[in-house]
Amino acid sequence: MPKKWGLWTLSLRVRLTAWYVLLLGFILFCFSVYLHLRLESTLQNWVEPTLVEKAASRLASETLMAVPFVLLGATLGGLFLANRALRPIDQITRTAQRISAGDLSQRIGSQGSADEVGRLAQTFDQMLDRLQTGFEREKRFTADVSHELRTPLTAIKGRIGMILHQPRTQDQYEDALSKLEQQVDRMIRLINDLLLLTRLDEKRLPWNPVNLDLSKLLEATVEQMGQLAKERQISLVEQIQPELFIQGDPDHLIRVFLNLLDNAIKYTPIKGQVIVQAKFQRMQMCVQVRDTGEGIPSEHLPHLFERFYRVEVARSRQTGGTGLGLAIAHELIRLHEGTLTAHSQNNQGTTFTIVFPVFARAF
Ligand code: ADP
Repeated sequence: MPKKWGLWTLSLRVRLTAWYVLLLGFILFCFSVYLHLRLESTLQNWVEPTLVEKAASRLASETLMAVPFVLLGATLGGLFLANRALRPIDQITRTAQRISAGDLSQRIGSQGSADEVGRLAQTFDQMLDRLQTGFEREKRFTADVSHELRTPLTAIKGRIGMILHQPRTQDQYEDALSKLEQQVDRMIRLINDLLLLTRLDEKRLPWNPVNLDLSKLLEATVEQMGQLAKERQISLVEQIQPELFIQGDPDHLIRVFLNLLDNAIKYTPIKGQVIVQAKFQRMQMCVQVRDTGEGIPSEHLPHLFERFYRVEVARSRQTGGTGLGLAIAHELIRLHEGTLTAHSQNNQGTTFTIVFPVFARAF
């Protein structure tokens, strides 16, 4: 809301025209005063003073008579120039008005010029691109979350219905309840992962970096996964250089390594091999988790770190996966200023590589 009325509350077009008229009027006024004085001083020595006075007063009255025409001309000229200059801004305003919350597809389009207005239009379009991408990602994420929550809830409801339908034996009740517990555990995992991602997005995740021995941390994580590997008859091989130190948050790093190891064991067939390697090379700390599993088809690799992305949806759900593990791992490594990448060849296995800069910033 404009605070006070005056020239500043009028439209930019009117203001530009007014400034144009005022400026032109002022220049003309100065010029005619100058002309008047010059005429008087030049004629004084040649012509009689009464004649000079007459000529001067005639010149003054004719100049005054021309003022309305000059003002009219200046106003029309000012309006024309202001219109021309402001036309692209009008277009931006109209586009902005057309953009409703649901339709972010409107664009101003190229103005063909690289001046201030052209740059404004380009910046506006780029901002809309980013908004649209964010908005669509948000929509897809909400749909995915609803779907992920609906699946276990439907299963839970179906199972409860079955139990209530007819009396069961003690063993059947126990079996049904343990299956219900699995579903509830999956939902709790999913909600915890979502909470963690939200905190990561909002930069509210507790972050306590220390100078830590990466080698010891990896060895402890491998040991923790030993039992699962044994159950699946997978040999877990350690190739970890001793005393590799980095600046990082141990809780977050354990989470990342557990996720990579869990996936490697989960997606590698019985009697396969998972190798955990850590070494210092080219001023970087490099950790690799390599498996001899089925691999990931190349078309899936660019999407692997997206939220809820799974190569085989049914299989991931069956094994209790939420489809958020790699997305979280990627974000957590980014928080450490490192990179997490995946390489894979069909039927030859997958390698996840984490690279930490040695002098990672201490937060
Ligand atoms: P999930 O909870 O489903 O395991 P992740 O985000 O950890 O979710 O992994 C995403 C998907 O990437 C998995 O569903 C799986 O299809 C694929 N994936 C991850 N790690 C491996 C691996 N080592 N070998 C084969 N596929 C993998």
